[in-house]
Amino acid sequence: MNSNTLQTPITYLKGVGPNRAQLLQSELGIATYQDLINLFPNRYIDKTQYYKINQLERNTSDVQIIGKIVHLKTVEQKKGKRLVATFIDDTGEIELVWFRGQKWIRENLQINVPYVIFGRTNWFNGKFSMPHPEMELQSVHEQGLRITMQPVYPSTEKLSNKGVTNRVISTLMQQLFAETQGLFSETLSPEILERLKLITSTEALFNIHFPKNQHLLARAQFRLKFEELFYIQLQLISKKLVRKQKIKGFPFETVGDYFNTFYKEYLPFQLTGAQQKVIKEIRADLGSNAQMNRLLQGDVGSGKTIVALMIMLLALDNGFQSCLMAPTEILANQHYSGLKELLGNMNVNIAILTGSVKKSDRKIIHEQLENGELNILVGTHAVLEHKVQFKNLGLAIIDEQHRFGVAQRSKLWHKNEIPPHILVMTATPIPRTLAMSLYGDLDISVIDELPPGRKSIKTVHRYDNNRLKVFRFLKDEIKKGRQIYVVYPLIQESQALDYKDLMDGYESMVREFPLPDYQISIVHGKMKSEDKEYEMARFVKGETNIMVATTVIEVGVDVPNATVMIVESAERFGLSQLHQLRGRVGRGADQSYCILMTGHKLSSEAKTRLETMVRTNDGFEIAEVDLRLRGPGDLMGTQQSGLLNLKIADLVKDNDILKTARFYALQILKEDPGLQLEKNGALRNTYAQLIKHKNIWNYIS
Ligand code: ADP
Ligand code: MG
Repeated sequence: MNSNTLQTPITYLKGVGPNRAQLLQSELGIATYQDLINLFPNRYIDKTQYYKINQLERNTSDVQIIGKIVHLKTVEQKKGKRLVATFIDDTGEIELVWFRGQKWIRENLQINVPYVIFGRTNWFNGKFSMPHPEMELQSVHEQGLRITMQPVYPSTEKLSNKGVTNRVISTLMQQLFAETQGLFSETLSPEILERLKLITSTEALFNIHFPKNQHLLARAQFRLKFEELFYIQLQLISKKLVRKQKIKGFPFETVGDYFNTFYKEYLPFQLTGAQQKVIKEIRADLGSNAQMNRLLQGDVGSGKTIVALMIMLLALDNGFQSCLMAPTEILANQHYSGLKELLGNMNVNIAILTGSVKKSDRKIIHEQLENGELNILVGTHAVLEHKVQFKNLGLAIIDEQHRFGVAQRSKLWHKNEIPPHILVMTATPIPRTLAMSLYGDLDISVIDELPPGRKSIKTVHRYDNNRLKVFRFLKDEIKKGRQIYVVYPLIQESQALDYKDLMDGYESMVREFPLPDYQISIVHGKMKSEDKEYEMARFVKGETNIMVATTVIEVGVDVPNATVMIVESAERFGLSQLHQLRGRVGRGADQSYCILMTGHKLSSEAKTRLETMVRTNDGFEIAEVDLRLRGPGDLMGTQQSGLLNLKIADLVKDNDILKTARFYALQILKEDPGLQLEKNGALRNTYAQLIKHKNIWNYIS
């Protein structure tokens, strides 16, 4: 059957009426034959095994038992009634229970006749029971198809309530294979099939739904996972190639006075090897004729700012303006003052643009941007506004990328006829697997080395009832002249409660650390931005000892004298957030500490997070644990999670297949960028179909 016919609406399938079609669409997103075929089982149940009742264990989920019903009764309960059957084999008895459809069952069940039952068992009051078992007369069971591994399809509560059970889905699948004769056109090229020894589409699809044996099932899974990942990589890489070919960038050919002067006279330290390597990679991009789209990953404190500055100077040497965007006003301000300080008295015109810049100042900035007087603009989202026009924007740097949406990234593009070079900087290390998929269309550089002389941060987990000890420790640190952060969680859904916690916490800190001996700052999202700035500035200048805050300080803030980070209700933070927060200390020469405060009640996932934080400072290791705990969708936030709805592959577990897929996609596109060669016909057609029917992630960047 060719791929066009597979676009037949699912209502045409025998057994699917308008109601079911509607349900399949809304619950599982199945609209066509193709969609149904691509509904891959989550797992398989071994139906070759039969249990004896005395072999049941408390946690056996899907079991198959041969036996008979010896007794049937209706039991009244608070709401409605339930039907209970006593089911026995020669080793014991269990109860079968129905809450729905009792009349039909009562009329049709036969007593004292052998059945094969199948289902999930519960252990209750010293007895096993099985609610709503699947039942089949043993005589019928023995005539039926010998399915050795029964697929279990994804389902929803609504589907099973409306009677679209796993068995119904299986039947529909059989019907689909009957109608299409189970013949599907090949979607991979002969070359790939040959080199990877893959089974054909037809064989794979058959065995994924009706596995003949374990071996063929494994081969079917491998092939389908490969195929899924391959087409994603094909899309990502071809986008990248198209962009490199079609989208011209400004070549930054000269390394001129700005760059050299800064390097020779102003650079306050020696660059780390990793910083040098990354600058080299970026310079190679900028020197080519294509637009740069690069992701710069570097753990907190690895020194991304200086890299950003040096390439902005390179832009300036070539007569171009740059902008540096940060996700918060605090961070933008910090970048601005940091850059100004680094630049010393160099003749570089730099300005900051945020929501709180006065209208009159803003006007000047707009003018200077347009007439080219301004060389570097630092700012927040405000930079993206339509009114902000550059004379010749050559480079845009986005710090802490995942807080900006993809759409915003593309807005920057439209500030020029020729798009500026784009460098996205992130301090949240993204595991390689994920980076390859999410940012497969970007080039990636990594700063994998911290500046010398950093002491690693000591991290401990303390329970709330040890707070007094913690306070004593804080007083010692303050005595030494150090500063302290205390951070409270703040999540959208429970804002009011969280603010209460924050204010309660603040008050108890004030009581414990009273004036005039101690000065405490507080910063949170509900404050006016000038008040925030004021409090923040006091802390930066060392006028206050303690900064109590919500996660607004999470990113980027740099106060080298701060040596303690206390995270309250640490169990409520995700790993990457905790790691970000910890990165706020350990920026100076002194030993720094991160103290994770929690109550005693912790989920096992929360324990793992805390243990991981205590065990390691390595952002990449933390990111890997995070990926395992949360899965790729959650990890990247809802905004991007849609991109990670894979049908069969798993970005974590199928890492090796992903690498293989990427390797082949790259090889093929290098040789045949437009998939024009005859041998790539199957790829060309499949790719076109996927794009047309939106069966592939839709990337914009
Ligand atoms: P991040 O990558 O988190 O943005 P920053 O750029 O803020 O890190 O750098 C963190 C701190 O390390 C800053 O105080 C910066 O001046 C300092 N730093 C950066 N690079 C070096 C280096 N090569 N040697 C010494 N200190 C450095
Ligand atoms: Mg930074």
